[in-house]
Amino acid sequence: MIYLDANATTPLHPEVLAAMLPLLRDNFANPSSVHGPGQAARAALDAAREQCAAALRCAPREIVFTSGGTESDGLALRGAVEAAIATGAVADPRDPASRAAGRPRPRIVTTAVEHPAVGGACEALEREGVDVVRVGVDGEGRLDEDAFAAALDAPGAVLGSAMAANNETGVLFPVERLGTLCRARGVPLHVDAVQWVGKAEIRLDELPVDLLTVSAHKLQGPKGAGLLFVRRGMELRAVQPGGHQERGRRGGTENAAGIVGLGEALQRACAGAKALAPEIVRLRDRLEAAAAAIPGTRIAGAGAARVCNTLCAVFEGCDGETLLASLDLLGVAVSTGSACSSGSLSPSPVLLAMGLSPALARGAVRFSLWSGNTRAEIDRVAELLPEVVARVRGAPSPAKG
Ligand code: PLP
Repeated sequence: MIYLDANATTPLHPEVLAAMLPLLRDNFANPSSVHGPGQAARAALDAAREQCAAALRCAPREIVFTSGGTESDGLALRGAVEAAIATGAVADPRDPASRAAGRPRPRIVTTAVEHPAVGGACEALEREGVDVVRVGVDGEGRLDEDAFAAALDAPGAVLGSAMAANNETGVLFPVERLGTLCRARGVPLHVDAVQWVGKAEIRLDELPVDLLTVSAHKLQGPKGAGLLFVRRGMELRAVQPGGHQERGRRGGTENAAGIVGLGEALQRACAGAKALAPEIVRLRDRLEAAAAAIPGTRIAGAGAARVCNTLCAVFEGCDGETLLASLDLLGVAVSTGSACSSGSLSPSPVLLAMGLSPALARGAVRFSLWSGNTRAEIDRVAELLPEVVARVRGAPSPAKG
């Protein structure tokens, strides 16, 4: 198989597995237990926390381990809103008395192209009365920064939330500038960095970011492990209350093996990011040139800065799902969009937000590369693609709902 679906997930790195095995096989103790094996498990968690902090250039106490990107995003958004409500700075929209007191409703300023992990958390908060502003993008997927700033100026703004790299198109948002806009207004910024970490150098000691989401399985780490960076001084309410774990910010017995895997994977990914990016970009651009040479093809976000590994090609008059299935039969694994929405017949909201028509957006295929891809693999896909696209274009299109 030629695997070009790294934005969905990546294979576990053998060294990550090796680091996890002792906790899976030998030391099963609860890290909260006070006996020797428990302390050994706790020491493994502490070491993983240090690894993560060193990789991201932050302090170990600023790391909250979670079950992955979705949980970290949910914790960032809900945790920030609940903390702001608790201080009395904004009204509790669920409480009529609080609303009547004249305080503004809490407001989140986010974007129209976020991953469903952020999108879903926003929708849930919106149903409870939180005001959510989704700032749009232009035809290349670039954020309207003036609109983002203006939305932050309204009363009640408690959080900005923007992804670093888009999971479907790879388009990068200007994290540093957005952080500066937020800081100038005293509003914290959350960044979903799931598709950014390991593909660029990230320095939390320099970036004006207060909350940052990482997921292990996009970095050759295990599924079910991730973290939320919470800058010191940032008020955050636990979304999963319970035990004292994670300094009261996330209750529940820690996934010790997963966390150790995350630490190893994150250290490896961050250390290798600078060297890897140009190699991956060369392969991605090679594939992109081959796709773009097929008549009636456009590359989503080609005019914007993009993360090194992602290519979203839109083939006019072609059904993306059929193209995916045809490539799959030939041993090439790709995606039509975010894994969470694949299998649905509705076109990608990200591409619609970029102004593509629903018909055109249905012709999108995402190729996302990883460090295991070779030039021979890319050349093979480049060779197959024109023929497969022509075949799918000639095929009767499946009924759409
Ligand atoms: N955020 C982005 C940008 C993603 O691409 C993903 C996964 O595709 C997630 C969040 C969710 O991460 P997880 O699968 O770890 O819950």
